[in-house]
Amino acid sequence: MVRAQASMVMVLDKCIGCHTCSITCKNVWTNREGLEYAWWNNVETRPGVGYPKRWEDQERYGGGWVLENGKLRLRLELKKYKVPSKEDYYEPFTYTYEELFTEELRDEQPSADPISMYSGEKIEVQWGPNFDDDLAGGDLTIPADPNMALLERSMYTEFKNVFMFYLPRICNHCLNPSCLVACPRKAVYKRPEDGIVLIDQTRCRGYRQCVQACPYKKVYYNWKTGKSEKCIFCFPRFEQGQPPVCALTCVGKIRYVGVVLYDEEKVLEAAKAPERELVRAQRDIILDPWDPEVVRQARRDGVPENFIEAARKSPIYYMFKKWEIALPLHPEFRTLPMVFYVPPLNPVITVLDRNGKFSADYESVLPTIDKLRIPIKYLASMFAAGNEDEVRKALKRLLAIREFFRLVEVEGVSKRQAARVLEEHGLSLEDADLMYRWLALGRERYVIPTAKKELRIRIPRRKAGR
Ligand code: SF4
Ligand code: SF4
Repeated sequence: MVRAQASMVMVLDKCIGCHTCSITCKNVWTNREGLEYAWWNNVETRPGVGYPKRWEDQERYGGGWVLENGKLRLRLELKKYKVPSKEDYYEPFTYTYEELFTEELRDEQPSADPISMYSGEKIEVQWGPNFDDDLAGGDLTIPADPNMALLERSMYTEFKNVFMFYLPRICNHCLNPSCLVACPRKAVYKRPEDGIVLIDQTRCRGYRQCVQACPYKKVYYNWKTGKSEKCIFCFPRFEQGQPPVCALTCVGKIRYVGVVLYDEEKVLEAAKAPERELVRAQRDIILDPWDPEVVRQARRDGVPENFIEAARKSPIYYMFKKWEIALPLHPEFRTLPMVFYVPPLNPVITVLDRNGKFSADYESVLPTIDKLRIPIKYLASMFAAGNEDEVRKALKRLLAIREFFRLVEVEGVSKRQAARVLEEHGLSLEDADLMYRWLALGRERYVIPTAKKELRIRIPRRKAGR
């Protein structure tokens, strides 16, 4: 059965960590009592512990699926896990801004004190959703990053080895969402027409099983209403052909939004793939929107014509499926997340010696994959369940495009000659032009079909233990 899925790609090299996406999302959706602490979109500095602290550590939080005797089980069924505490998120605070205007005239600058948004009392701020921004306090927080487990301590203690990048996160609107299956009230559902995962507020009773079961900790409990809430992919905008607010306002233009077609019947099989093959298995269920058989089946299954058309122009299809430069976050959680990341290459400029020549270690201005500053192991732990080959392939293709354009634009080599670099990495001249248009110029980042009338189609509820 062919289904359409709303999806996003984020190109991490372009993220400048400005947090505009988080603020605009907050202003639109969670700027109200009960959700002061909740950031449907948040941006983390990596390496770091993230928000809530150590959310990737499923031994602590029990999210996602485990494969047991060939069957998928919710991890939380195995043991009693707890939802993250106030300390794991943070105590939301504001400032006594009015004191800046009302304080008596003094010699010192007036200052505003932080006050808790829960109690209204003055507090000493201990933590926040991006407290370790730009590696602040890295000595304390970086060793607690689960992805650092495979790396040597020298990676973060020697200045010359220090690396960082930003990781913006929203709900992944997964194909095999553990939040949905964990809900005993069947309040969490996946919209059949575009796969957006929502919580029916009239059914939710605030049991918080979904909060525990989501391995990305992207469901939040609203203490005012007593119900759980989550990112809704700005569906009222999406239905009008508009991108979610986080994407619209993204300063770095790192976000690409579109739909892809996938084979619903193969979802379970893909989620059960051996760990190293999870990325490939997820790619395999994304369907070719030009294949006449796929199109015929999509029409039979009620996928509207404008969705099929949008899937053909989808940057997501190219980046995840065709070029294989985008990767899912922690595929080993087996939820098949549908927000993808183009891993960061930076910095790409290599060292020059005193004479202005490239250092003996480097033959060209572009370093080889293993000379990149961010360790492949770290990226593989985050985006490929430890499979370094997937990360290498993506980074090599990104470097190949840069080398191609350098040869053409700086060294005056003809496009036809320079295409050799592309061919070595399985890319064509058309691919290079499209990549340049999308990644460098940031054009046509959103290909979103407008919604059709309610579709009478259903996505089967997947049970644990299948
Ligand atoms: S990211 Fe979490 S909340 Fe979102 S669909 Fe996946 S499991 Fe559910
Ligand atoms: S708005 Fe864009 S560039 Fe700024 S932090 Fe968010 S994702 Fe990164």
